[in-house]
Parts: sequence; structure tokens; C-alpha cells
Amino acid sequence: MEQGIIENLINELTKLPGIGRKTAQRLAFFILTMSDEDAKGIAKAISEVKDRARFCRECFNITDKEICGICSSSARDRETICVVEEPSNILVIERSKGFDGLYHVLLGTLSPIDGFTPDKLKMSELVERVRKNSIKEVIVATNPNTKGEMTAQYIRELLKPFPVRVTRIAYGLPIGGDIEFADEVTLGKSLEGRREI
Ligand SMILES: [Zn+2]
Repeated sequence: MEQGIIENLINELTKLPGIGRKTAQRLAFFILTMSDEDAKGIAKAISEVKDRARFCRECFNITDKEICGICSSSARDRETICVVEEPSNILVIERSKGFDGLYHVLLGTLSPIDGFTPDKLKMSELVERVRKNSIKEVIVATNPNTKGEMTAQYIRELLKPFPVRVTRIAYGLPIGGDIEFADEVTLGKSLEGRREI
């Protein structure tokens, strides 16, 4: 029985990315030594995120409300939208403190070969926001790889009919890389050095 419950925890932990059997074992035995409060705090946070997390109706960031904290903040510049591929990219850009506008999450990147056509992404929602809210600048912060570039060019074309400046963040980031792994300073500089596309 005792073997059963710890074995079960190890199996569950191996479902996480980057966690092999050995690491899972170490984590499982570490969790055993944690205080009740700490261990249950982890379980509760996982359960809450699954129960309450949803997409912001405006920008498709992850939130537990209808409209996320960034979209509902009065301190943000509401005429600039930074377009990212995934909600996790917002966390990285926020940490860089180089941006105080709004975001728009595409929930993916263009890749027709894998079935990621524009209608599978939040493209028409972006156009709607630009059209309705007199947006002055759209900064495209998709990843510096082929799909990210293709996505940026597509957005450029899509927004041609509107009087909006479309820029792409300058990459001091390695080409073919992922903004997920960029440090805050590099990302802050990429935002500063953005250029028109
Ligand atoms: Zn939002």
C-alpha cells in the first residue's frame, strides 16, 4: 500500500515536461518531507489553475476573470498592442518592464503544414481590436524563427487597411530561438529597438 501511493505520485510527476523517472523519484520523496501546508499548497495551486484559469475575452491571456488584469488596468497605454504567440510570453515581456501597453495572444503561430491556418489563431480578433479601439501601434513579438516571421508578415498584410504602425521587435535574440528563453535585459532592448515592417 505504502509502495502504491508513492509509486503513484512518481508516475504522475513523470507526466511533467523535463521530469524523468529519477527526478520524479527525488521530487516525490522531497514532497514527503515537506510540511503539510507546503505540499498541499502545491496540490491546491494546481487544482485551482485547472478549475479557474480561462482566456481573457479581450486579449486571450490566462486569467481567472472575464477580462485580465492587464486589459482592465487604467495604468496601461491603450493605444499599443503587443502581439505574442502564447500567454507565457506575456510573463517574460512583463518582467522586462520595457512595455506598458496591451497584449494580444494569437494562441499559436502560422504553420499551414500543421493545420495552423489563420482561422485557427486569434487573427480576426486582433483586426477587430485594431479597428474598434483606434490602436496606434501593433508590435509583433512572435518568435525569431521561420513560423514567427511568416506570422509577422501575415499580420503586416492583414493590418494594411488600417492607419496603424506595425513594428517587429528587434532581435538581439538568437535567430531560430524562442522569446521564452530570452533574459529580461535582452528582451527590453529588443522592444526598444523595434522597427517598422
Ligand atoms: Zn486581457
